[in-house]
Amino acid sequence: MEANRCLFCFDAPCAAACPTHIDVPRFIKKIATANVTGSARAILEANVLGLSCSRVCPVDVLCEGACVMHNVNREPIQIGRLQRHAMDHFYANGGRLPQGASNGKRVACVGAGPASLACAAELRRNGVAVTVYDKRPLAGGLNTYGVAQYKFTPDDSRREVEMIRRSGVEFVNGADVGTTLSFEEIESKFDAVFIGIGLGPTQPLGIPGEKLPGVLNALEFIASYKTAQPVALGRRVAVIGGGNTAIDAAVAARRLGAAEVSILYRRGEAQMSAFAFEYEQARREGVQFCFHARPEAFVQDGGAFRVVLPEGAAAVMADTVIIAIGQSKLIETLGAVRQIELHEGRIVVNPANGQTSNPKYFAGGDCVNGGREVVDAAAEGKRAAKGILAWLT
Ligand SMILES: Cc1cc2nc3c(=O)[nH]c(=O)nc-3n(C[C@H](O)[C@H](O)[C@H](O)COP(=O)(O)OP(=O)(O)OC[C@H]3O[C@@H](n4cnc5c(N)ncnc54)[C@H](O)[C@@H]3O)c2cc1C
Ligand code: SF4
Repeated sequence: MEANRCLFCFDAPCAAACPTHIDVPRFIKKIATANVTGSARAILEANVLGLSCSRVCPVDVLCEGACVMHNVNREPIQIGRLQRHAMDHFYANGGRLPQGASNGKRVACVGAGPASLACAAELRRNGVAVTVYDKRPLAGGLNTYGVAQYKFTPDDSRREVEMIRRSGVEFVNGADVGTTLSFEEIESKFDAVFIGIGLGPTQPLGIPGEKLPGVLNALEFIASYKTAQPVALGRRVAVIGGGNTAIDAAVAARRLGAAEVSILYRRGEAQMSAFAFEYEQARREGVQFCFHARPEAFVQDGGAFRVVLPEGAAAVMADTVIIAIGQSKLIETLGAVRQIELHEGRIVVNPANGQTSNPKYFAGGDCVNGGREVVDAAAEGKRAAKGILAWLT
């Protein structure tokens, strides 16, 4: 049994490598002693998003990457798989989160992605009444609309949100804060506000032809695929970018049946920001890679596109183009918050407690760190909840 291979290290490096510091040896030991519910509780105590993290975390570069087994040339303990086992057991048995007695305080979380979910759950556990506002119809943020379908489905995301809702957190969807509902209005009704709005739409390339029909943006494409309304793709798909989103879009295009999918990346293989295991996965799924290929224009050619590359490189023909060069910052939305300091479009916070330059506002997740992983958003949301609790009392 995998759990019995663990050495239950003192000062375990796997736990130190986890941004939420899940006590890995403790939860594995509980599995080894057949206390799977206790194991799940140990995980959720540190990270309420234990379900999504067990499926979407890049464990190779986090907990499993730090496992001492590497030092003796053995396979690391499969921490992600063990966490999945504990979480699946907990959810299958209708597991619930503990609720704290009300302390009369009220906090709003803006955005219903991983950062706000972690913040809201921690506040609720400590007796705070929490309302989470999101502009989209479903809660969960990129866990619902962005993360690759083969890792985490919208239905998995819904289960995680429901567990938090059942702990007493209120969710208001379709509320675009800064547009349909002002920050002032929220501020006047709550004792503190947490901002977890993530990042904005895919950045434009700024080249001719990118507004033509058939040139898609990766986030919209992935969201449409995940919510079972996939946009029609041609036989040949060219994805522009070199990060994890480009890989996810390319893999999704293959799985939707596109015969030829190529990723065009402006730099070389070594500079790609995508994780090595994601890159390998895409190769296994038949995605082709074309390096040092920076498109200069998309030109309609019959029913297809010519992706024009710099002089000397032959143009690439595609029926559909997907742009995946990273997300923009939500500068306009954040500009509407009084006295909140931004740096290069990110919210500046006190790293100890997530508090912004306006003391009533706290923040965390992609809108603070510029775009990292679900587990970072979970850690920052919880950190801010602790900061809010300390500030309110
Ligand atoms: C395509 C893609 C794949 C990814 N894959 C992985 C992966 O495999 N593993 C991993 O760990 N991480 C992955 N990530 C990163 C991860 O999804 C993010 O780091 C994480 O979701 C950030 O959480 P967040 O709560 O900060 O923001 P988000 O998840 O972006 O949530 C922000 C929420 O705020 C809402 N919002 C925005 N503006 C407003 C407003 N004005 N009013 C109300 N609501 C608003 C949005 O609708 C959204 O629901 C991926 C990201 C992308 C783009
Ligand atoms: S480092 Fe590896 S062996 Fe040690 S506690 Fe963590 S998972 Fe177990």
